[in-house]
Amino acid sequence: MTEQKEKRIIAIHYSEIALKGANRKQYEAKLIRNAEKILEQNIKIKRRPGRLLIYLDDTDNNQTSNIINKLKKVLGIKWIGEGYSIPKDIDSLRKTAVKIAKQHIKPDETFRIKATRVDKSYSLTSLEIEREIGAEITKQVGAPVNLKNPEKTLYISILPSETIIIWNRHEGPGGLPIGTSGRVVSLFSGGIDSPVASWLMMKRGCHVDLLHFYALPSIEQVRMSKIMSLFEVLKNYSPDSRLFLASFIPFMKASMSADPRIELPLFRRFMLKVAERLAMNIDALGIVTGDSLGQVASQTLDNIYSASIGISLPIYRPLIGMDKEEITKLAKKIGTYSYSIMEYKDCCSILVRSSSTKTSPEEVMNEWNRLGLDTAVEETLAGIEELKL
Ligand code: ATP
Ligand code: MG
Repeated sequence: MTEQKEKRIIAIHYSEIALKGANRKQYEAKLIRNAEKILEQNIKIKRRPGRLLIYLDDTDNNQTSNIINKLKKVLGIKWIGEGYSIPKDIDSLRKTAVKIAKQHIKPDETFRIKATRVDKSYSLTSLEIEREIGAEITKQVGAPVNLKNPEKTLYISILPSETIIIWNRHEGPGGLPIGTSGRVVSLFSGGIDSPVASWLMMKRGCHVDLLHFYALPSIEQVRMSKIMSLFEVLKNYSPDSRLFLASFIPFMKASMSADPRIELPLFRRFMLKVAERLAMNIDALGIVTGDSLGQVASQTLDNIYSASIGISLPIYRPLIGMDKEEITKLAKKIGTYSYSIMEYKDCCSILVRSSSTKTSPEEVMNEWNRLGLDTAVEETLAGIEELKL
């Protein structure tokens, strides 16, 4: 389809990783679907070679920034460009390039043109386009060309159907589109770490469903808490993610007489076991936690080992090598931090009394069997509820 006249557009560029051969079409289809879902308002995204385009309604100026802000949350997008689609003749290109330069490049600012051709049959080479348009802008605006370190860059792409000029780029979140990597269940505590861990798995293309163990007396109280706000933030990136709630009561009742030294790894294993069973019910292929090595007593190598014993699904711990400062920085960028630090009655805060940093799988399993925790797992599973926004 050829766009006949100058039209404002937003260009979406994705990373080229995982784009080999047949995967590419599927990857693009997922990205389009995810972006259209996040954009809501019936905006259509068109495929073009190596990029996606949104043609804008020229009369609405707010629309552009609104769309760009939403696209910044679409995982898989590397960068977002603002610009124009124009007919392929060189006169149209010259005219629009000068118009853009007059609006966005000051006479004393340096600039360069970067041209690429998808359509190799075009009458000028990329270098010729850069020279010709660059010279025209200098002539009309006064701005000097600087190839090495320009203050402004205009990007020109000659596509088979049209020419694209981009005058402004915004960084996207990168990663892979959600849904290209399958499903996982993320243990979601509402602290700083687990929302970040969940987001990082989303960023690698996973559909992430959240599982939260609550100690509050009712689900309604969870609905009013920060858990819901955090879920909302993550939903901006992943509208299809679900939040499952599991009661802490069955574990609490069954573990009344547990050895306080190993209560924490026992509860960690309990959560993993419930997550594993839930994962099997919803076709998920892994469990995610916000563990960071050495951060707290439950996150020593010994305790991670004894809490993970006999869990048949892979456990992903995307934060394991990160320190709190790095995690916090990411939480702020994602938008979860301000909610994570809010007051909340968490299960773990009820438990930790005199927990040991060094437990063994044998101790944990002996205590597990003595307390009959398999039954409590079943009871917890039977009571899991999905909380909707
Ligand atoms: P967070 O990591 O979210 O800040 P935390 O720092 O308090 O929690 P721990 O209590 O040791 O860390 O928990 C480690 C991991 O165990 C969490 O990152 C999360 O994956 C899981 N977890 C802890 N509490 C819960 C809970 N109430 N519901 C679900 N998962 C939990
Ligand atoms: Mg933590």
